[in-house]
Amino acid sequence: SLTKICRLMLTGLKSLVRKATSIFASPKAQTYPIIIPRSDHSLSRQNLSPNAVKVLYRLNKAGFDAYLVGGCIRDHLIGVDAKDFDVVTNATPEEIHDLFSNSRLIGRRFRLVHVTFGREIIEVSTFRAPSAQEDSASKPQESLKGKDSARSAHGIVLRDNVYGSIEEDAERRDFTFNALYYNVQDFSIHDYCGGLEDIANKKIRIIGDARQRYQEDPVRMLRAIRFAGKLGFDIDEETAAPIKEMAHLLDHIPPARLFEEVLKLLGSGNGIKTFHLLRQYGLFKYLFPDTEALLVSGWKRDDLNPEAFILQGLENTDKRLQTGKTTAPYFLYAVMLWPSVVLRHEEFQSQGMPATPALHQAASMVLDNQVASTAIPRRFSTPMREIWDMQFRLPKRYGKRAFVLLDHPRFRAAFDFLLIRELSGTELGGLGAWWESFQFANENEQRELIKSIDLRANDKEGPKKRRPRRRKKSNAPQRETPEE
Ligand code: ATP
Ligand code: MG
Repeated sequence: SLTKICRLMLTGLKSLVRKATSIFASPKAQTYPIIIPRSDHSLSRQNLSPNAVKVLYRLNKAGFDAYLVGGCIRDHLIGVDAKDFDVVTNATPEEIHDLFSNSRLIGRRFRLVHVTFGREIIEVSTFRAPSAQEDSASKPQESLKGKDSARSAHGIVLRDNVYGSIEEDAERRDFTFNALYYNVQDFSIHDYCGGLEDIANKKIRIIGDARQRYQEDPVRMLRAIRFAGKLGFDIDEETAAPIKEMAHLLDHIPPARLFEEVLKLLGSGNGIKTFHLLRQYGLFKYLFPDTEALLVSGWKRDDLNPEAFILQGLENTDKRLQTGKTTAPYFLYAVMLWPSVVLRHEEFQSQGMPATPALHQAASMVLDNQVASTAIPRRFSTPMREIWDMQFRLPKRYGKRAFVLLDHPRFRAAFDFLLIRELSGTELGGLGAWWESFQFANENEQRELIKSIDLRANDKEGPKKRRPRRRKKSNAPQRETPEE
């Protein structure tokens, strides 16, 4: 239709004007971008998601500039499999949305479009201009700078929807290796900030002034650590220097965002390295405050060495991920918080609370404290509680109990958890090996295994003794009457 043709001509013109102005406006135009032609790099269309390529072509055909950017280009050049494909363009979110019937506008802090192809989502966003620097110290209240960009009292960027040129877009990305753009029209890579050289030198380098960039978005500190753990790169000196003293800014990040970041940090397949780096840079404390306090205190028990246990849990997860297996995110969270649960459990019991309610109380307390730092959705906290609960049920195998436990939906996770406890030095009298045999035995063998349990070794195990019923005193607070 005529209006469509007009619109296409107009957007074509707009992009031409944008290109022209950006060439004249940027003094760095002579040196950047460095353009690497197809013949000089290893990235080919075969390495890319066909859906991402489709999105690029469609945008180009409509007269827009469009590039692949970020993790997919970086990871490919490093030799890691890319997991998602991000497209960036000079089309606005509304224009993108109009072009793709299979798309949705999302985000508030950062508006973008999701184009869906079955299970694959291609994220398409518009070139952003760096958000204007503001003197945050003189403005104690949230300062709103128009409705498209805003900062909090701490200088954290709350909204970032000012559109710009590709040069500006490159400048507001976090690290140099994340500002590489792939142009599907001539298969070239455009490097705006020296990312290729940094990849060659295995360096993580923030774009611009590190302090200012962490102030705008403290999560960038976590991202630096994440890439160091995942890629085995070194963090450039100037990029690393302010992290320790600025770590506290993470206190101002919404717990839900930190939760997502923790899953990526510890679920990269390099959890041990990442854990050490997080602690070394003073960031771990803002993600797991109770766990950090416990590790620093040096608290230990004969049957639990917190650090050894956590490292064992991370090693197990790393191995699984490195061999292509999956892990449940709640499992790692259950590992990270277990030492705190054990400590609180002990405290509640020493106040006279019976073992089971004390455990539930301990779990609630630890989870309540934790969600102030990193939100934990209920679909994660419920299985975490079950894993912890099962640690006290797995020793009790008498009668039909072992069969009931085996059918529990969380059996496998709880069993893996138990093995990690044993591997980290907790003496459980061969409990892990017993369950290992029990799972794979036939019914007769299973009965033999139950008979073989040495009741004397664990006298809590035997057939249920009848206990005189406690009379409920309606007014007396229950928890002050110890059970036995
Ligand atoms: P991965 O997908 O492996 O986690 P990624 O680099 O692709 O790594 P995304 O969160 O998918 O990470 O972000 C895509 C791109 O957006 C990044 O490569 C980077 O250019 C930019 N980006 C993401 N988060 C930030 C941030 N906090 N500050 C500035 N730029 C960012
Ligand atoms: Mg990505």
